[in-house]
Amino acid sequence: VSLYTLIAFGFILSIELHHQAVSSDSNEERLEHYYSPPLLEDENISKEGLCVRPGHTEPYDLSFERLHNKQVITISGFGGSGITVGEGAVHAQLERFESQVLPQLPYHRETEIAIIGNGVIGSLTALHLNNKGYKNILVFTDQKSASATPNAGGYIAASIADGHPEAEQYKQMCLTTFKGFSAAFEGTHPFIDAQDKDIVRRLPVYRTGGKSAALENYVAQRLMKPGINVKLHILDTEVSHNLYCYEDAMYVNPRLLLQHLHHQVTRYQIPVVDRHIGYLSEIEASVVFNCSGALAGKLTGKQGSYIPTLGHYMLLHNQPESAQGLNSSNSMIVAQGSEFAANNGHNVSMSLNLLPKTGVKEEGENYQAYLGGTFIKNVRLNRHGYVKKENHYPEAFKHILNNAREFFGLPTS
Ligand SMILES: Cc1cc2nc3c(=O)[nH]c(=O)nc-3n(C[C@H](O)[C@H](O)[C@H](O)COP(=O)(O)OP(=O)(O)OC[C@H]3O[C@@H](n4cnc5c(N)ncnc54)[C@H](O)[C@@H]3O)c2cc1C
Repeated sequence: VSLYTLIAFGFILSIELHHQAVSSDSNEERLEHYYSPPLLEDENISKEGLCVRPGHTEPYDLSFERLHNKQVITISGFGGSGITVGEGAVHAQLERFESQVLPQLPYHRETEIAIIGNGVIGSLTALHLNNKGYKNILVFTDQKSASATPNAGGYIAASIADGHPEAEQYKQMCLTTFKGFSAAFEGTHPFIDAQDKDIVRRLPVYRTGGKSAALENYVAQRLMKPGINVKLHILDTEVSHNLYCYEDAMYVNPRLLLQHLHHQVTRYQIPVVDRHIGYLSEIEASVVFNCSGALAGKLTGKQGSYIPTLGHYMLLHNQPESAQGLNSSNSMIVAQGSEFAANNGHNVSMSLNLLPKTGVKEEGENYQAYLGGTFIKNVRLNRHGYVKKENHYPEAFKHILNNAREFFGLPTS
Protein backbone atom coordinates (compact mmCIF):
# COMPACT_ATOMS: atom_id res chain seq x y z
CA VAL A 1 0.00 0.00 0.00
CA SER A 2 1.64 3.23 -1.14
CA LEU A 3 2.00 6.30 0.96
CA TYR A 4 -0.41 8.01 -1.41
CA THR A 5 -3.07 5.39 -0.97
CA LEU A 6 -2.79 5.87 2.79
CA ILE A 7 -2.91 9.66 2.52
CA ALA A 8 -5.84 9.48 0.08
CA PHE A 9 -7.65 7.04 2.38
CA GLY A 10 -7.01 9.24 5.42
CA PHE A 11 -8.20 12.24 3.49
CA ILE A 12 -11.40 10.57 2.30
CA LEU A 13 -12.01 9.36 5.86
CA SER A 14 -11.61 12.88 7.21
CA ILE A 15 -14.13 14.15 4.67
CA GLU A 16 -16.50 11.35 5.62
CA LEU A 17 -16.30 12.52 9.23
CA HIS A 18 -17.27 15.99 8.11
CA HIS A 19 -20.35 14.73 6.31
CA GLN A 20 -23.64 15.52 7.89
CA ALA A 21 -26.90 15.27 6.02
CA VAL A 22 -28.98 18.45 6.05
CA SER A 23 -32.02 19.65 4.24
CA SER A 24 -31.24 22.37 1.70
CA ASP A 25 -33.50 25.25 0.59
CA SER A 26 -34.62 23.15 -2.37
CA ASN A 27 -35.44 20.23 -0.07
CA GLU A 28 -32.71 18.16 -1.67
CA GLU A 29 -30.57 16.30 0.77
CA ARG A 30 -27.14 17.89 0.90
CA LEU A 31 -24.00 17.06 2.80
CA GLU A 32 -22.15 19.86 4.55
CA HIS A 33 -18.48 20.29 3.66
CA TYR A 34 -16.08 22.99 4.83
CA TYR A 35 -13.48 24.78 2.73
CA SER A 36 -10.54 26.97 3.81
CA PRO A 37 -10.47 29.84 1.33
CA PRO A 38 -7.18 30.58 -0.44
CA LEU A 39 -5.23 33.74 0.40
CA LEU A 40 -5.58 36.04 -2.61
CA GLU A 41 -3.59 39.17 -1.72
CA ASP A 42 -0.77 40.49 -3.92
CA GLU A 43 1.86 38.58 -1.93
CA ASN A 44 -0.01 35.33 -2.63
CA ILE A 45 0.17 35.69 -6.43
CA SER A 46 3.40 34.23 -7.71
CA LYS A 47 2.84 34.26 -11.45
CA GLU A 48 0.42 35.67 -14.00
CA GLY A 49 0.32 33.20 -16.89
CA LEU A 50 -0.74 33.78 -20.47
CA CYS A 51 -1.02 30.93 -22.94
CA VAL A 52 -2.96 29.41 -25.81
CA ARG A 53 -5.25 26.40 -26.00
CA PRO A 54 -4.98 24.72 -29.41
CA GLY A 55 -8.67 24.68 -30.39
CA HIS A 56 -10.31 23.55 -33.62
CA THR A 57 -13.60 24.15 -35.45
CA GLU A 58 -14.33 20.43 -35.01
CA PRO A 59 -13.78 18.82 -31.59
CA TYR A 60 -10.25 17.90 -32.74
CA ASP A 61 -8.00 17.41 -35.76
CA LEU A 62 -7.21 13.71 -36.18
CA SER A 63 -6.51 13.86 -39.88
CA PHE A 64 -4.65 11.30 -41.99
CA GLU A 65 -3.35 12.69 -45.26
CA ARG A 66 -0.66 12.33 -47.90
CA LEU A 67 1.32 15.54 -48.21
CA HIS A 68 4.74 16.06 -49.86
CA ASN A 69 4.95 12.33 -50.45
CA LYS A 70 4.58 11.61 -46.75
CA GLN A 71 1.94 10.04 -44.60
CA VAL A 72 1.01 12.86 -42.23
CA ILE A 73 -0.95 11.99 -39.10
CA THR A 74 -2.19 14.92 -37.07
CA ILE A 75 -3.11 14.69 -33.38
CA SER A 76 -4.13 18.14 -32.23
CA GLY A 77 -6.77 20.75 -31.57
CA PHE A 78 -8.37 19.54 -28.32
CA GLY A 79 -8.84 23.03 -26.89
CA GLY A 80 -8.95 23.05 -23.09
CA SER A 81 -9.04 19.23 -22.93
CA GLY A 82 -5.81 18.00 -24.45
CA ILE A 83 -4.65 16.28 -21.27
CA THR A 84 -8.09 14.68 -20.87
CA VAL A 85 -8.42 13.34 -24.43
CA GLY A 86 -4.71 13.07 -25.26
CA GLU A 87 -3.65 9.51 -24.62
CA GLY A 88 -6.91 8.15 -26.06
CA ALA A 89 -6.37 10.20 -29.22
CA VAL A 90 -2.79 8.92 -29.53
CA HIS A 91 -4.05 5.33 -29.23
CA ALA A 92 -6.77 5.94 -31.84
CA GLN A 93 -4.29 7.35 -34.37
CA LEU A 94 -1.70 4.63 -33.71
CA GLU A 95 -4.34 1.93 -34.24
CA ARG A 96 -5.37 3.49 -37.53
CA PHE A 97 -1.72 3.86 -38.56
CA GLU A 98 -0.97 0.20 -37.79
CA SER A 99 -4.01 -1.12 -39.63
CA GLN A 100 -3.92 1.14 -42.71
CA VAL A 101 -0.37 2.34 -43.25
CA LEU A 102 2.07 -0.02 -41.58
CA PRO A 103 1.34 -3.06 -43.84
CA GLN A 104 2.45 -1.00 -46.86
CA LEU A 105 5.69 0.25 -45.35
CA PRO A 106 8.72 -1.71 -46.64
CA TYR A 107 10.68 -1.36 -43.39
CA HIS A 108 7.72 -1.92 -41.04
CA ARG A 109 8.77 -1.04 -37.51
CA GLU A 110 12.21 0.09 -38.74
CA THR A 111 10.57 2.85 -40.83
CA GLU A 112 11.79 6.34 -40.04
CA ILE A 113 9.09 8.23 -38.17
CA ALA A 114 9.23 11.93 -37.37
CA ILE A 115 7.18 13.52 -34.58
CA ILE A 116 6.79 17.29 -34.58
CA GLY A 117 6.25 18.67 -31.08
CA ASN A 118 7.00 17.37 -27.59
CA GLY A 119 4.06 18.66 -25.59
CA VAL A 120 1.90 16.01 -23.92
CA ILE A 121 0.66 14.64 -27.27
CA GLY A 122 4.02 14.44 -29.06
CA SER A 123 5.70 12.90 -26.01
CA LEU A 124 2.97 10.28 -25.55
CA THR A 125 3.14 9.45 -29.26
CA ALA A 126 6.92 8.96 -29.08
CA LEU A 127 6.71 6.77 -25.98
CA HIS A 128 3.83 4.61 -27.26
CA LEU A 129 5.60 4.07 -30.61
CA ASN A 130 8.74 3.11 -28.72
CA ASN A 131 6.73 0.79 -26.50
CA LYS A 132 5.30 -0.89 -29.62
CA GLY A 133 8.81 -1.59 -30.88
CA TYR A 134 9.36 1.18 -33.45
CA LYS A 135 13.10 1.66 -33.69
CA ASN A 136 13.61 4.75 -35.80
CA ILE A 137 11.81 7.66 -34.16
CA LEU A 138 12.99 11.27 -34.25
CA VAL A 139 11.24 14.05 -32.32
CA PHE A 140 11.52 17.64 -33.55
CA THR A 141 10.67 20.39 -31.17
CA ASP A 142 11.30 24.07 -31.24
CA GLN A 143 12.30 25.25 -27.78
CA LYS A 144 11.29 28.79 -28.76
CA SER A 145 7.74 27.76 -29.64
CA ALA A 146 4.88 27.91 -27.17
CA SER A 147 3.65 24.73 -25.49
CA ALA A 148 0.19 24.70 -23.91
CA THR A 149 0.88 21.64 -21.79
CA PRO A 150 2.89 23.02 -18.84
CA ASN A 151 0.38 25.88 -18.47
CA ALA A 152 -2.71 23.68 -18.27
CA GLY A 153 -4.84 23.28 -15.15
CA GLY A 154 -5.04 19.49 -15.13
CA TYR A 155 -8.73 18.84 -14.45
CA ILE A 156 -9.62 15.64 -16.30
CA ALA A 157 -13.02 16.30 -17.87
CA ALA A 158 -14.14 16.94 -21.42
CA SER A 159 -17.56 16.70 -22.93
CA ILE A 160 -19.12 16.82 -26.33
CA ALA A 161 -22.80 17.16 -27.22
CA ASP A 162 -24.59 13.81 -27.61
CA GLY A 163 -25.56 13.35 -31.22
CA HIS A 164 -22.42 15.02 -32.53
CA PRO A 165 -20.94 12.73 -35.21
CA GLU A 166 -17.69 12.46 -33.23
CA ALA A 167 -19.36 12.01 -29.82
CA GLU A 168 -18.81 8.25 -29.52
CA GLN A 169 -15.15 8.37 -30.51
CA TYR A 170 -14.58 11.37 -28.25
CA LYS A 171 -16.09 9.62 -25.24
CA GLN A 172 -14.04 6.49 -25.94
CA MET A 173 -10.83 8.50 -26.16
CA CYS A 174 -11.64 10.18 -22.82
CA LEU A 175 -12.22 6.75 -21.24
CA THR A 176 -8.95 5.39 -22.64
CA THR A 177 -7.05 8.37 -21.24
CA PHE A 178 -8.73 8.05 -17.85
CA LYS A 179 -7.80 4.36 -17.71
CA GLY A 180 -4.23 5.28 -18.65
CA PHE A 181 -3.95 7.76 -15.78
CA SER A 182 -5.57 5.26 -13.41
CA ALA A 183 -2.94 2.71 -14.45
CA ALA A 184 -0.23 5.32 -13.87
CA PHE A 185 -1.68 5.99 -10.41
CA GLU A 186 -1.70 2.26 -9.65
CA GLY A 187 1.78 1.65 -11.04
CA THR A 188 0.75 -0.45 -14.05
CA HIS A 189 1.16 2.01 -16.94
CA PRO A 190 3.88 0.96 -19.42
CA PHE A 191 5.87 4.16 -19.01
CA ILE A 192 4.08 6.72 -16.80
CA ASP A 193 5.35 5.93 -13.35
CA ALA A 194 3.18 8.32 -11.36
CA GLN A 195 3.16 6.64 -7.97
CA ASP A 196 4.31 8.88 -5.12
CA LYS A 197 5.20 11.62 -7.58
CA ASP A 198 2.22 14.00 -7.28
CA ILE A 199 1.59 13.64 -11.04
CA VAL A 200 -1.78 11.89 -10.84
CA ARG A 201 -4.21 12.25 -7.94
CA ARG A 202 -7.84 11.36 -7.24
CA LEU A 203 -9.44 14.41 -5.63
CA PRO A 204 -12.94 15.72 -4.95
CA VAL A 205 -14.18 18.31 -7.44
CA TYR A 206 -16.87 20.81 -6.40
CA ARG A 207 -18.86 22.17 -9.34
CA THR A 208 -21.55 24.70 -9.97
CA GLY A 209 -24.19 23.66 -12.50
CA GLY A 210 -24.99 20.19 -11.15
CA LYS A 211 -23.94 16.97 -12.83
CA SER A 212 -21.16 17.08 -15.39
CA ALA A 213 -21.79 15.29 -18.69
CA ALA A 214 -18.04 14.77 -18.96
CA LEU A 215 -17.69 13.11 -15.56
CA GLU A 216 -20.89 11.09 -15.96
CA ASN A 217 -19.04 9.38 -18.86
CA TYR A 218 -16.60 7.97 -16.27
CA VAL A 219 -19.33 7.27 -13.69
CA ALA A 220 -21.27 5.21 -16.26
CA GLN A 221 -18.18 3.01 -16.70
CA ARG A 222 -17.70 2.76 -12.90
CA LEU A 223 -14.36 4.52 -13.16
CA MET A 224 -15.71 7.14 -10.75
CA LYS A 225 -18.36 7.12 -8.03
CA PRO A 226 -21.64 8.99 -8.66
CA GLY A 227 -21.63 12.58 -7.44
CA ILE A 228 -23.40 14.03 -4.40
CA ASN A 229 -25.10 17.31 -3.52
CA VAL A 230 -23.04 19.37 -1.13
CA LYS A 231 -23.40 22.61 0.76
CA LEU A 232 -19.86 23.97 0.80
CA HIS A 233 -19.26 26.36 3.69
CA ILE A 234 -16.37 28.76 3.22
CA LEU A 235 -14.66 28.85 6.61
CA ASP A 236 -14.33 32.21 8.42
CA THR A 237 -17.04 33.74 6.20
CA GLU A 238 -20.82 33.70 6.01
CA VAL A 239 -20.65 32.29 2.49
CA SER A 240 -21.81 28.85 1.42
CA HIS A 241 -22.54 27.39 -2.01
CA ASN A 242 -24.82 24.59 -3.13
CA LEU A 243 -22.53 22.52 -5.33
CA TYR A 244 -22.27 19.11 -6.90
CA CYS A 245 -19.30 17.03 -5.81
CA TYR A 246 -17.55 14.05 -7.38
CA GLU A 247 -15.33 12.77 -4.60
CA ASP A 248 -12.87 10.79 -6.69
CA ALA A 249 -12.30 12.91 -9.78
CA MET A 250 -8.98 12.77 -11.63
CA TYR A 251 -6.38 15.51 -11.37
CA VAL A 252 -3.15 15.44 -13.36
CA ASN A 253 -0.39 17.94 -12.74
CA PRO A 254 0.49 18.88 -16.34
CA ARG A 255 3.91 20.37 -15.64
CA LEU A 256 5.04 17.38 -13.59
CA LEU A 257 3.54 14.99 -16.16
CA LEU A 258 5.43 16.69 -18.98
CA GLN A 259 8.70 16.67 -17.02
CA HIS A 260 8.19 12.97 -16.40
CA LEU A 261 7.40 12.21 -20.07
CA HIS A 262 10.51 14.13 -21.19
CA HIS A 263 12.55 12.17 -18.66
CA GLN A 264 11.16 8.90 -20.04
CA VAL A 265 11.89 9.96 -23.65
CA THR A 266 15.52 10.51 -22.63
CA ARG A 267 15.61 7.27 -20.66
CA TYR A 268 14.41 5.25 -23.68
CA GLN A 269 17.01 7.05 -25.83
CA ILE A 270 14.48 8.52 -28.25
CA PRO A 271 16.36 11.31 -30.03
CA VAL A 272 14.96 14.84 -29.73
CA VAL A 273 16.20 17.61 -32.04
CA ASP A 274 15.66 21.27 -31.21
CA ARG A 275 14.56 22.58 -34.60
CA HIS A 276 11.66 24.64 -35.91
CA ILE A 277 9.97 22.87 -38.81
CA GLY A 278 8.70 25.49 -41.25
CA TYR A 279 7.55 23.03 -43.94
CA LEU A 280 6.91 19.29 -44.00
CA SER A 281 9.29 19.03 -46.97
CA GLU A 282 12.20 19.76 -44.56
CA ILE A 283 11.66 16.32 -43.02
CA GLU A 284 13.18 13.19 -44.56
CA ALA A 285 10.97 10.61 -42.87
CA SER A 286 8.08 9.20 -44.88
CA VAL A 287 5.79 9.09 -41.83
CA VAL A 288 5.18 12.27 -39.82
CA PHE A 289 3.12 12.63 -36.66
CA ASN A 290 2.09 16.27 -36.50
CA CYS A 291 1.74 17.06 -32.77
CA SER A 292 2.59 20.73 -32.98
CA GLY A 293 -0.36 21.98 -30.92
CA ALA A 294 -1.88 25.32 -31.88
CA LEU A 295 0.45 25.50 -34.91
CA ALA A 296 -0.49 22.08 -36.32
CA GLY A 297 -2.74 23.54 -39.02
CA LYS A 298 0.07 25.71 -40.31
CA LEU A 299 2.13 22.69 -41.36
CA THR A 300 -0.76 21.08 -43.23
CA GLY A 301 -2.19 24.24 -44.82
CA LYS A 302 -5.31 24.12 -42.63
CA GLN A 303 -4.59 26.97 -40.28
CA GLY A 304 -8.06 28.42 -40.95
CA SER A 305 -9.74 25.53 -39.14
CA TYR A 306 -7.81 26.17 -35.91
CA ILE A 307 -9.22 28.42 -33.18
CA PRO A 308 -6.38 29.44 -30.88
CA THR A 309 -7.94 30.35 -27.53
CA LEU A 310 -6.16 32.66 -25.12
CA GLY A 311 -6.02 31.63 -21.48
CA HIS A 312 -5.04 33.67 -18.42
CA TYR A 313 -4.28 32.00 -15.11
CA MET A 314 -2.41 32.66 -11.88
CA LEU A 315 -0.14 30.55 -9.73
CA LEU A 316 -0.51 30.99 -5.99
CA HIS A 317 2.08 30.68 -3.26
CA ASN A 318 2.40 31.69 0.43
CA GLN A 319 -0.76 29.76 1.23
CA PRO A 320 -1.26 28.74 4.87
CA GLU A 321 0.53 25.48 5.69
CA SER A 322 -2.07 24.52 8.25
CA ALA A 323 -5.27 25.13 6.26
CA GLN A 324 -7.99 22.97 7.80
CA GLY A 325 -10.07 20.42 5.91
CA LEU A 326 -10.65 21.07 2.25
CA ASN A 327 -8.50 23.61 0.48
CA SER A 328 -6.78 24.27 -2.82
CA SER A 329 -4.15 21.59 -2.24
CA ASN A 330 -6.53 18.68 -1.70
CA SER A 331 -9.59 19.42 -3.84
CA MET A 332 -10.72 21.18 -7.03
CA ILE A 333 -13.29 23.92 -7.52
CA VAL A 334 -14.78 24.46 -10.96
CA ALA A 335 -17.38 27.22 -11.15
CA GLN A 336 -19.04 28.86 -14.11
CA GLY A 337 -18.30 32.55 -14.33
CA SER A 338 -19.41 35.22 -16.71
CA GLU A 339 -19.19 36.36 -20.31
CA PHE A 340 -18.44 39.92 -21.21
CA ALA A 341 -17.09 42.08 -24.02
CA ALA A 342 -13.60 43.38 -23.27
CA ASN A 343 -12.62 46.93 -24.17
CA ASN A 344 -10.28 45.60 -26.89
CA GLY A 345 -13.25 44.00 -28.68
CA HIS A 346 -12.68 40.46 -27.44
CA ASN A 347 -15.45 38.32 -26.11
CA VAL A 348 -14.24 36.97 -22.78
CA SER A 349 -15.75 33.99 -21.07
CA MET A 350 -14.43 33.45 -17.60
CA SER A 351 -14.78 30.60 -15.15
CA LEU A 352 -13.23 29.83 -11.79
CA ASN A 353 -10.89 26.88 -11.67
CA LEU A 354 -8.98 26.49 -8.43
CA LEU A 355 -6.77 23.42 -8.61
CA PRO A 356 -3.69 22.18 -6.78
CA LYS A 357 -0.35 22.81 -8.43
CA THR A 358 1.90 21.39 -5.78
CA GLY A 359 5.36 19.99 -6.36
CA VAL A 360 6.02 22.39 -9.20
CA LYS A 361 9.22 24.32 -8.87
CA GLU A 362 10.28 27.04 -11.30
CA GLU A 363 12.94 29.69 -10.87
CA GLY A 364 13.43 28.53 -7.28
CA GLU A 365 9.76 29.05 -6.50
CA ASN A 366 7.36 26.39 -5.18
CA TYR A 367 3.83 26.92 -6.41
CA GLN A 368 0.85 25.71 -4.43
CA ALA A 369 -2.26 26.29 -6.52
CA TYR A 370 -3.55 27.21 -9.95
CA LEU A 371 -6.29 29.81 -10.38
CA GLY A 372 -7.89 30.34 -13.79
CA GLY A 373 -9.09 31.53 -16.09
CA THR A 374 -10.27 33.05 -19.33
CA PHE A 375 -11.27 31.71 -22.74
CA ILE A 376 -10.81 34.30 -25.46
CA LYS A 377 -11.35 32.67 -28.82
CA ASN A 378 -9.64 33.32 -32.13
CA VAL A 379 -6.61 35.25 -31.04
CA ARG A 380 -3.81 35.83 -33.53
CA LEU A 381 -0.52 34.02 -33.01
CA ASN A 382 3.02 34.78 -34.11
CA ARG A 383 5.30 32.26 -35.85
CA HIS A 384 6.19 30.61 -32.55
CA GLY A 385 2.62 30.22 -31.34
CA TYR A 386 2.58 33.12 -28.88
CA VAL A 387 -0.31 35.57 -28.75
CA LYS A 388 0.36 38.80 -30.59
CA LYS A 389 0.78 41.85 -28.35
CA GLU A 390 -2.39 43.58 -29.60
CA ASN A 391 -4.41 40.61 -28.29
CA HIS A 392 -3.04 40.74 -24.76
CA TYR A 393 -5.65 41.57 -22.14
CA PRO A 394 -3.92 42.31 -18.80
CA GLU A 395 -7.19 43.33 -17.11
CA ALA A 396 -8.13 39.65 -17.19
CA PHE A 397 -5.98 38.96 -14.11
CA LYS A 398 -7.94 41.47 -12.06
CA HIS A 399 -11.23 39.92 -13.26
CA ILE A 400 -10.04 36.42 -12.33
CA LEU A 401 -9.01 37.55 -8.86
CA ASN A 402 -12.23 39.42 -8.18
CA ASN A 403 -14.27 36.50 -9.48
CA ALA A 404 -12.47 34.20 -7.04
CA ARG A 405 -12.65 36.68 -4.14
CA GLU A 406 -16.40 37.02 -4.67
CA PHE A 407 -16.85 33.23 -4.68
CA PHE A 408 -14.94 32.91 -1.40
CA GLY A 409 -16.59 35.90 0.27
CA LEU A 410 -13.38 37.94 0.36
CA PRO A 411 -13.29 41.71 -0.29
CA THR A 412 -12.94 42.57 -3.99
CA SER A 413 -10.82 45.42 -5.32
C1 LIG B 1 -4.83 27.93 -19.43
C2 LIG B 1 -5.05 26.50 -19.93
C3 LIG B 1 -5.66 25.59 -19.10
C4 LIG B 1 -5.87 24.28 -19.54
N1 LIG B 1 -6.45 23.39 -18.68
C5 LIG B 1 -6.65 22.11 -19.07
C6 LIG B 1 -7.23 21.16 -18.18
O1 LIG B 1 -7.56 21.48 -17.02
N2 LIG B 1 -7.44 19.89 -18.63
C7 LIG B 1 -7.07 19.49 -19.89
O2 LIG B 1 -7.31 18.34 -20.23
N3 LIG B 1 -6.48 20.37 -20.74
C8 LIG B 1 -6.27 21.66 -20.37
N4 LIG B 1 -5.71 22.56 -21.24
C9 LIG B 1 -5.46 22.15 -22.62
C10 LIG B 1 -4.13 21.43 -22.80
O3 LIG B 1 -3.10 22.18 -22.20
C11 LIG B 1 -3.80 21.27 -24.29
O4 LIG B 1 -4.93 20.82 -25.03
C12 LIG B 1 -2.66 20.27 -24.46
O5 LIG B 1 -1.61 20.59 -23.58
C13 LIG B 1 -2.16 20.29 -25.88
O6 LIG B 1 -1.01 19.48 -25.97
P1 LIG B 1 -0.20 19.39 -27.32
O7 LIG B 1 0.90 18.44 -27.09
O8 LIG B 1 -1.15 19.15 -28.45
O9 LIG B 1 0.36 20.87 -27.58
P2 LIG B 1 1.54 21.72 -26.91
O10 LIG B 1 1.74 21.41 -25.46
O11 LIG B 1 1.26 23.15 -27.26
O12 LIG B 1 2.84 21.22 -27.67
C14 LIG B 1 3.12 21.60 -28.99
C15 LIG B 1 4.59 21.34 -29.24
O13 LIG B 1 4.91 21.56 -30.61
C16 LIG B 1 6.11 22.30 -30.71
N5 LIG B 1 6.05 22.98 -32.02
C17 LIG B 1 5.05 23.77 -32.49
N6 LIG B 1 5.33 24.15 -33.75
C18 LIG B 1 6.51 23.57 -34.08
C19 LIG B 1 7.30 23.57 -35.27
N7 LIG B 1 6.91 24.22 -36.37
N8 LIG B 1 8.47 22.89 -35.27
C20 LIG B 1 8.87 22.20 -34.17
N9 LIG B 1 8.13 22.15 -33.03
C21 LIG B 1 6.98 22.82 -32.99
C22 LIG B 1 6.08 23.20 -29.49
O14 LIG B 1 7.36 23.64 -29.16
C23 LIG B 1 5.51 22.24 -28.45
O15 LIG B 1 6.53 21.42 -27.92
C24 LIG B 1 -5.46 23.89 -20.83
C25 LIG B 1 -4.82 24.81 -21.65
C26 LIG B 1 -4.61 26.11 -21.21
C27 LIG B 1 -3.89 27.06 -22.12
